Amino acid sequence: MAMVTIKAPAKINLALDTLYKRDDNYHEVEMIMTTVDLADYITVTPRNDDKIVIQSNEFTIPLNEKNLAYQAAELFRKHFNIKQGVEIYIKKKIPVAAGLAGGSSNAAATLKALRELFKVDCTMDELAELGARLGSDIPFCVYGGTALATGRGEIIHPIPSPPKCWVILIKPRIGVSTKEIYEALNANEVQHLDIKGMLDCIELQDYQGICNRLGNSLESVTFERYPVVEEIKNKLIQFGADAVLMSGSGPTVFALVRKEYKLRRIINSINGCLREHEVYAVRLIG
Ligand code: ATP
Repeated sequence: MAMVTIKAPAKINLALDTLYKRDDNYHEVEMIMTTVDLADYITVTPRNDDKIVIQSNEFTIPLNEKNLAYQAAELFRKHFNIKQGVEIYIKKKIPVAAGLAGGSSNAAATLKALRELFKVDCTMDELAELGARLGSDIPFCVYGGTALATGRGEIIHPIPSPPKCWVILIKPRIGVSTKEIYEALNANEVQHLDIKGMLDCIELQDYQGICNRLGNSLESVTFERYPVVEEIKNKLIQFGADAVLMSGSGPTVFALVRKEYKLRRIINSINGCLREHEVYAVRLIG
């Protein structure tokens, strides 16, 4: 049985609207998510025993049952009654606790890798359903591409990809807990987004319309707790990005830029005054 490697890309939210808090304490959301070309790689190798062993080049993530890839492997084995152990190597490039769904993407890639390794006959929908038991962002990561996510984020409606552009990601050296931000959110005070308009703009490939409609209900909550995130957003607007938004619950802020000369100019400005943060220039692969 050979090893299997699967790419696990990061996601950004072009729109994140929280509608109300549900009885089960989750928020009902409407999110437009898309993948970017910044990725981890998950390699699974069969073992001669029944253990799940996690290894990584990144020393800040848990290497035990707290790792989402571990949990995905355990769930997969249980569901399909597989006894054999696996080693899961996580080659990490996506910053951790950044609002880029790194852990969720690792879990989704692990499910796909195990399906291939053990030649299990199951659909993407079944993998997404398994993933949803572990985390709301995992079903989106199973399908990838671009989607409207509803429910608590686990109901996925695929949509066309937005027009190609550059995405500059800036992550300050802090980690933000998604749970903390949702707990602090007052769903009644949220200014709702034009999700329908955004979907139309994506359908029509209207780049400017998409830029005008970016929005994230969680921004103000994260900004209040971590002012550096708002500072980064303001700088990117000042440097002339086409549109700027915080991704997920933060702290990563992304800027959309269409023209390459503009990208170079903005990167130069970032190197001048935001160099203490992690900076990535990637493409939308949605
Ligand atoms: P999301 O956008 O889905 O909220 P995130 O990008 O904000 O996710 P992650 O990188 O997934 O955050 O990390 C959140 C926490 O999950 C971290 O504190 C980390 O310790 C834990 N974690 C568990 N497994 C992983 C993994 N495979 N990769 C990264 N973090 C993981």
